[in-house]
Order: sequence, then structure tokens, then C-alpha cells
Amino acid sequence: MKGRKLLMIPGPIEFTPEVLQAMGAPTTSHVAPNFIAAFGQALERLRQVFLCPDGQPFIVAGSGTLAMDMAAANLVEPGDRVLVVNTGVFGDRFVAILERYGATVAQVRAPAIGDAPSLEEVEEALKGGGYKLMTVTHVDTSTGVAVEVKGLAALGRAYGALVVVDGVCAVAGEEMRQGEWGIDLALTASQKAIGVPPGLALLVAGPRAMEAFRRRKSPVGSYYVDWANWLPIMEAYEARQPSYFGTPPVNLIGALNVSLGQILEEGMEARSARHRRLSEALKAAVAALGMEQVPVRPEVAANTLTAPYFPEGVDRGVLAYAKEAGVIVAGGLHPAIKDRYFRVGHMGAVSASDILATVGAIEQGLAQVGYRFEPGAGLAAAQAVLARGT
Ligand code: PMP
Repeated sequence: MKGRKLLMIPGPIEFTPEVLQAMGAPTTSHVAPNFIAAFGQALERLRQVFLCPDGQPFIVAGSGTLAMDMAAANLVEPGDRVLVVNTGVFGDRFVAILERYGATVAQVRAPAIGDAPSLEEVEEALKGGGYKLMTVTHVDTSTGVAVEVKGLAALGRAYGALVVVDGVCAVAGEEMRQGEWGIDLALTASQKAIGVPPGLALLVAGPRAMEAFRRRKSPVGSYYVDWANWLPIMEAYEARQPSYFGTPPVNLIGALNVSLGQILEEGMEARSARHRRLSEALKAAVAALGMEQVPVRPEVAANTLTAPYFPEGVDRGVLAYAKEAGVIVAGGLHPAIKDRYFRVGHMGAVSASDILATVGAIEQGLAQVGYRFEPGAGLAAAQAVLARGT
């Protein structure tokens, strides 16, 4: 029997063999020609994956929280007003980070857990405003809620705010056209749809964000994330020149370059379409098994993860049985509903067969805890979606 379980959580995810091979390659110097070439190419590819031809990419050792910290530290000055569009735990986190750098933060919250504020509500908040910055969580991993980034970005711009998108659970899974949609800064981390083990904070800052940084009156309040330290490094590597500020994570950046190559080979449109279809298949299975989801309607549900409520009389014990059946899914994260739901991540190199394996394991878990349902109902519903093709 295979000991390996399928990891279907919202990050870290399953990585391709090529990416893992790059992780295991002999580590070179950070100024070795092959590393300079890989770093330079990864920076160029990041711009293509974010669809932001005139953006400035940053690749820095750290997690997604560091990417949020870097965005806030470089764009916010004490006393700046910021509007946070809050759809869950990661909106709360952005509030805390922004306040740490002296911002005065206002929030537009969803009317209920699992919902997203409407464009009208956000516009109403912006009107009152004078906001320098607006942040949006593309997919909040605690609720599985996706917001309408395109419409929100247009609104933010119309009211003169820099638009920052936390795309940690979205970039390279959900459709996001940074340049075309007018997003001033988008950020993510390596361990989700980007498809690389945890450890990289990834950002692309557009021209307006870089301009705001250059016009700062006060120094950036954190040494490590200050773009004044990192910009020359990114520019040097992209020009295929060696450089040093902090030792780059050589293997992770090599693996990132491999994964970005695979992402671009699939194509950004094909990639978001695959995520959409696999998500629909899993969500159809969840519904067929009689489970509700945290997102209150399909239009606000993410394509990168699914967040089902446990059915009546079932608790998180079912997840241990699903794991025994070979698939690891995640428990709840949002404190208000933590024990009432679970989360399945489906991003990156995820395939139709991974979805079917996951539904099969969930069905086995449900059967083990005595939940009454038609065995195979979830699988049939998923198959029906998958059989339709893209
Ligand atoms: N934002 C979102 C939307 C996330 O899902 C996460 C991680 N789950 C983060 C930020 C923070 O990323 P990290 O855990 O890599 O610090």
C-alpha cells in the first residue's frame, strides 16, 4: 500500500515532480551564473503570471504574511487613511498590519460570514473617504469567499485609492489581470496556486504604487521589507547581474522559476478555466452529499478552495476517516464557525482524478461516521461536471 496521502488543503499543496526536483538540486552560490539566470527569468515570468507588463516584481524569502507586511510598510505612512474590504480572517490580518504602520483603517465588512460586500457598499465607503489605499482579499481562505476584484479595483481607482490585492489564495488559480484591471499591487506566496513549497513572498507593484513609494516623506518602518533595499536587487538580477542584500533562498527560487514556466506553458486562461471546472465538480459533489457551503451563493465562492459545512450530526471526526481513506483536507479557520465546517484546497497542479479521489475519501469518511446518503452520489455529481469538459 502507498504510504503517501493526497494533500488537499488550501496550501501547502501537492507540487509537481519537476518543482520538487529543483528543490533537491545541489544548492549553488547566490551569485552563480545559473542562479542569476533562474532568478532573472523568474522575475520576468512573475510579471507574465500576474499579467502586469509594467509592474515591478519582488521575490523575497518569507510567507504570504511577509508579502502583506511589505505592501503595507512601503505604501503606508503614519496617518494615511486605508479602506479594507474584509471578507474574513485575512482581512482582519491586513487591518492589524496596516495599523502597525500607523494607518487609520476603515472597513467594509460582508453582511454575514460567507458573503462579500456589494460594489455599492464599497463605493459608499469610498465616497466618504480620502483613502490613500484600499485592500481587497481576492479569496479569503477562512471562508472560501471570492470577491469581484475587477469591479472593486475600478472603484478604488475612481476614488483615487491605490488598490492592493491579497491574492495569496488566488494568483495563478483565479483569473486576475493586474495591469488591465488597474490593480496597483498584487501579492501572493509560493505554497498555493503558484505551486512551490512554502517560503517565498511574491509581489508585483504597478507604476502608481512605485511612485507612491518614491514620494514617501517618512522612512519605511521595517528594515527587512524596505523596497529601498530590495529594488536594486530585483533590478540587478533581472539585468542578469549578481547582487546581494539578504541571501536569497536559492533552491526555492530555482523551483519557482520551474513552476512559473509550467504555469505559463498551460496558459493563464486555460489555468483559471481548469480551476473553475474542478471547483464546480467538487462543489457539485458537496451539494449532492447534502452539505451546505460557507459562501452564501455561487457568485461569491472561490475556485481555489471549497468550504462545506458538516452535515447535521457530523463533526470534524469525519476528516480523520477521510485521511485514513487517503486524502488530507483542512479543518475550519474562521473563529466564529471553526468547528462547523472544513476546507478542501484545489489549486496548482490539481487534476480531475485528485477531485474524484477527494470526493471518494469524503464519502468513505461520511459512511464511517454513520451519515446516511446514497454512496457514490458525490462521485456521480462530480463526474457529471467533469464529463462536460471545459
Ligand atoms: N492571505 C491569504 C488570503 C491567505 O490565505 C494566507 C494564508 N493562508 C495569507 C494571507 C498568509 O499567508 P502565509 O500563511 O503564507 O503567511
